[in-house]
Amino acid sequence: MKIHEYQARELLMDAGVPVPPSDVVETVDQAVAAHKKIGDRVVVKAQVFAGGRGKAGFVKLCATPAETEEAAGFMLSNRMVSKQTGPEGIAVKRLLIAAAVDIEAEYYVAVVLDREKRCPVVMVSREGGVEIEEVAARNPDAIVKEWLHPHLGLLGFQAGNLVNALGLTDKAQAKSARAVIAGLVKVFLSYDCSLAEINPLVRTKDGQIVAIDAKMNFDDSAVFRHPRLQEMFDPSEENANELRAKEHNLSYIALDGNIGCLVNGAGLAMATMDIIKLHGGEPANFLDVGGSVTREAAIEAFRIILSDERVKGILVNIFGGIARCDTIAEALIAAARELDFRVPVVVRLEGTNVERARALLSEANIDRLVTAADLTDAAEKVCARVA
Ligand code: GDP
Ligand code: MN
Repeated sequence: MKIHEYQARELLMDAGVPVPPSDVVETVDQAVAAHKKIGDRVVVKAQVFAGGRGKAGFVKLCATPAETEEAAGFMLSNRMVSKQTGPEGIAVKRLLIAAAVDIEAEYYVAVVLDREKRCPVVMVSREGGVEIEEVAARNPDAIVKEWLHPHLGLLGFQAGNLVNALGLTDKAQAKSARAVIAGLVKVFLSYDCSLAEINPLVRTKDGQIVAIDAKMNFDDSAVFRHPRLQEMFDPSEENANELRAKEHNLSYIALDGNIGCLVNGAGLAMATMDIIKLHGGEPANFLDVGGSVTREAAIEAFRIILSDERVKGILVNIFGGIARCDTIAEALIAAARELDFRVPVVVRLEGTNVERARALLSEANIDRLVTAADLTDAAEKVCARVA
């Protein structure tokens, strides 16, 4: 799960991280009013689940309410296209109006889960700001890391090393940076984050250390134990199909290709995507209907896959273990009767009662339904049909 910058700022503030005052608005008038309230200069920032806003023109410093009016008008009526959005971009519904700061230096501070080392890692760099991905690629040594013991958290010497890496020699500034890092780690650990990032953390011209951007992602499986996060959940920013799938207990992840996959079991789903790619195709999604393929689940799964206009063919790859193949075939036939299969559907079934299932499918005589002898045959058939 993701949250907006303005929400991440709240969590940071609660953990003792200094953040400039701000307001969240939804209209140009509110933006102008917020500017007048906050004071002198503000920064107007699109609140969307994608980074790269600065470069896309969706973070704007505004010296007067008139400038804020123009910036807010632009952001609320244009889709933001950045490196992280895809060419169609995303609509902006909310803006953050934050007191602007005079920046002397920009730093990077983040905590992520290191899956190889199986613990959180804190990363800092004195080359923070909008180019951090390039820093990571060009000069990885400019990013200093400390790995956290899952139970002990951030130890004093580690905080010291990180602050030194930022090159903060001024005592008050070093102390302040230490509090920021400790606060970020606290948020990461107490809310089950998979990522908590401040980029940039800045040193202002008058020597203050403040966080002016924040990004957080959370482990979906842990959200149930954080009422605060549940309140922050914004369904309008999520992929509609992924939400729908979640409601029906289906694991669905949208991808970029044109071959829809309907599979039971995550391992089988991955193998299915691999074999599609091996035959030159591109999967449009990952969809695991789970152990029991009911009529309702099959219909919902097809509905979700077919609603993606890029889908030009579907590969159904199902292993009938506990759920028998003939039951699954009946579910497929029911889905075909209920929905319009606008693209070819190649079916590979294997397992208990597979002969009976094949007989049912051929008796049903469904237009566009193609049966496959095995997985390779299925991949070849579906790839040939979308080519
Ligand atoms: P992102 O591009 O989506 O990561 O958005 P950020 O919030 O990180 O803003 C991008 C850049 O805008 C920052 O790296 C800063 O250089 C600049 N910026 C943001 N807020 C301020 C501000 O209050 N004052 C000044 N001078 N620059 C700012
Ligand atoms: Mn940023």
